[in-house]
Amino acid sequence: MMHIDDISASRPLYEDLAGQYRAFEEALASARDGDSAAHAVQRWDARRRETQTWTSLVTLRFSQDTANADFKREREYCDEITPRLQALDVRVMRALLAHPQRPALERRVGAHAFALWTCEVQAFDPAIQPQLVREAKLKAENDALIAGAKLPLRGATYNFAGIVKFRESADRQLRYEAERARWQWFADHRAEMDRCYDELVHLRHDMARALGDANYVAMGYRRMNRTDYGPAEVERFRAEVREHLVPFAAELRRRQARALGLDRLMFWDEQVEDPRGNPAPRGALDWQMDRATEMFDAMGPELGGFFRLMREGKLMDLENRDGKRFGGFCTAFPTHGVPFIFGNFNGTQQDVRVFTHEMGHAYQSYRSREKPLMDYLWPTYESAEIHSMSLELLTAPHMERFFGDDAARFNRIHLTQALTFIPYGVAVDHFQHLVYERPEATPAERHAMWQAMERTYLPWRDYGDLPHVAHGGMWQFQRHIYGMPFYYIDYTLAQTCALQFWTRAKADWPATMAAYHALCARGGEAPFTELVRSAGLRSPFAPGCLRGVIEQARAALA
Ligand SMILES: [Zn+2]
Repeated sequence: MMHIDDISASRPLYEDLAGQYRAFEEALASARDGDSAAHAVQRWDARRRETQTWTSLVTLRFSQDTANADFKREREYCDEITPRLQALDVRVMRALLAHPQRPALERRVGAHAFALWTCEVQAFDPAIQPQLVREAKLKAENDALIAGAKLPLRGATYNFAGIVKFRESADRQLRYEAERARWQWFADHRAEMDRCYDELVHLRHDMARALGDANYVAMGYRRMNRTDYGPAEVERFRAEVREHLVPFAAELRRRQARALGLDRLMFWDEQVEDPRGNPAPRGALDWQMDRATEMFDAMGPELGGFFRLMREGKLMDLENRDGKRFGGFCTAFPTHGVPFIFGNFNGTQQDVRVFTHEMGHAYQSYRSREKPLMDYLWPTYESAEIHSMSLELLTAPHMERFFGDDAARFNRIHLTQALTFIPYGVAVDHFQHLVYERPEATPAERHAMWQAMERTYLPWRDYGDLPHVAHGGMWQFQRHIYGMPFYYIDYTLAQTCALQFWTRAKADWPATMAAYHALCARGGEAPFTELVRSAGLRSPFAPGCLRGVIEQARAALA
């Protein structure tokens, strides 16, 4: 049984690693047959796993306590050394792409790795190393700024993870005040938030120019390792959302207003689907973990056994504490073959959503831990989010354990929010295309771009007199926009796939779960559209796919 305290990795020193990498390159250069080339690849891969375990540990510790000076220093060292280590990896990838034994290697490890390496090689040049270091630093500073926020509300102080729970309160005045506190912080920090993003946009644009691109869009796609679709396919999907989903989402919002007895649904009402307030899990963290054990056991030995391993190994940190990074994520320690999930439980239904979501990621990474290459431990993000978002929906029949007789209400809210999320997610994506196509835009112009996106994709949205957001600043709460450009459409593509699993599960539970397990076990050995096809799902890029998904959901929500 692997315990979190047993996981360690030594801090990589550049000179040591540079020597090891020289040896890998020499071994590759002298490899005259498939066996010796594969052996060199294996040694390189083992080294990458060690580095990844170290990076995961450093990132995790910093996220658990962003105020700890030691963790912060280690994180800074990581941010500095990572682009230098990336330069070493890219040299090996370059050598592999041009290797005479490439056909033999492709037979052993699959051709997809070569497509991924092509993306990485084309998105990196030693010349942009200083910008990469600066980019990581800006991201870390922004994370720390947000993690350190202290938001006053009715005599108490909250961090962002703590305050968002009031969005789900049945008390409308409290919801409003909590939103005022949240956005007042952004209004007070607008200059810093704008300056940070402005620098990130220019930095990324300059890197793309240095690599020979007109702007950052193509480089952004390569950094996301997208090998089988581009901006044109994404725009086709956005068009389907505009045409079919935005009108349905607007209808759901009108229904919501009626249910809440409001003639004007305000931004601070959007998270509440029911006049009683949203159902909350009926116990605290430990109680929820006991229910989760029962639930996963009931879902079969694969998930049941896996959850025991996570729980007994203390491979989770889910309580909300001050100084902890906002949000949830899953990471993994490839040398030890186990994942870790991070979250900030706040007593709302979101706890169950975040938990089942991150468990989906964790389960997939565990299932694919034996893949021959690091590159296959995780798929690209739009595929990875299928595992997580599908598990959120596949656990629906077990929600009674958490919500008692409110389970049906929870599932209905979940489905509604799964649908209304898509226009928002697409707006975040479209906005970023606008930003990187016009890097010279001023911060004020960017806020106007976001408002145009809200009019297109979220036409019901009404911020009233809230600070900051009423003037186009809502996007600044979306961390991905700062930290991981173009990482957002992924959630909407994956949701479209997850909703297909949900539909199928109602018709044939065992076959659907079998397809889900098989998809998780494939990890990242294939690109998105192939993984989707192999799981028997329709590609979200296929005309009519989204419309079919909406029809199923419409019937369920009738
Ligand atoms: Zn996720």
